[in-house]
Amino acid sequence: MDSTRFKNKVVFVSGAGSGIGNAAAKRITAEGGMVVCGLLDESQRPAIGNLDGHVIDVARAESWDEVLGRIVARHGGLDALVNCAAILRSGAIEETALATWDEVIAVNLTGSFLGCQKAWPHLKRRGGGAIVNLSSLNGIRGLARAVAYATSKGGIVAMTMTLALEGARDKIRVNCICPGTIDTPMVAAAYRRSTDPAAAAQAAADRHPVGRVGTPDEVAALIAYLASDEAQFMTGQAIALDGGRSIDGGKSAR
Ligand code: NAD
Repeated sequence: MDSTRFKNKVVFVSGAGSGIGNAAAKRITAEGGMVVCGLLDESQRPAIGNLDGHVIDVARAESWDEVLGRIVARHGGLDALVNCAAILRSGAIEETALATWDEVIAVNLTGSFLGCQKAWPHLKRRGGGAIVNLSSLNGIRGLARAVAYATSKGGIVAMTMTLALEGARDKIRVNCICPGTIDTPMVAAAYRRSTDPAAAAQAAADRHPVGRVGTPDEVAALIAYLASDEAQFMTGQAIALDGGRSIDGGKSAR
């Protein structure tokens, strides 16, 4: 780990109160970055220790205006955005209520769009910057019985590629990560909702050729690389980080 890779860089991480976002915030801080954490509510503050944190509802434009305004006033600008906040709701096409669809699209897709849109002028003002979006393997492979979630994650891939093209000449790079199953509260909650949580956890591990699910730190390492200046030549990519699941002959689509 390079403790100076993010020297003089201001980075906002949404969804930093738990899971992957929390690991990313800590990793970028350890690499010398000035990280501001987006929290869903005050109950998440203990998870970020003494890092700077603001409550934000990523689905609301005014919430982004308020938080980014405070970051720029306090830290002088913004160099990178990590869009981690999301929710997972299960449901096949016939059982997904419109309200559920709207909720998932609002948080996962509109939330990421608003982050990109609101961060854009700040990144431009710095002469460029990086956005890392969290898609999912489900965004490029689909996920049966999670139509709203998988669709929101697929939209993030298209948005990432589109914004990479729009930002290239302004040196704004936009990439997304498509993780397989990662051991976080989101996944733990999904196991708990199943009839046999232990069997669900084992099945998730078995779906990955490496025989295990991933860790938040493993995703944080890739987030840090993509958000750093080391990744100057990489933009518009949707990178699978999945223990080989995406190349395993369609097994992951079952
Ligand atoms: P998580 O539930 O631990 O993290 C998501 C965070 O987003 C939570 O802290 C939650 O409070 C926050 N959040 C939810 N709604 C919000 C809102 N309206 N405004 C602000 N914050 C809000 O789950 P995670 O697994 O760490 O997920 C991080 C990202 O990685 C998500 O985008 C998720 O879709 C993606 N992802 C996760 C996995 C996995 O297996 N864990 C796989 C692929 C992709």
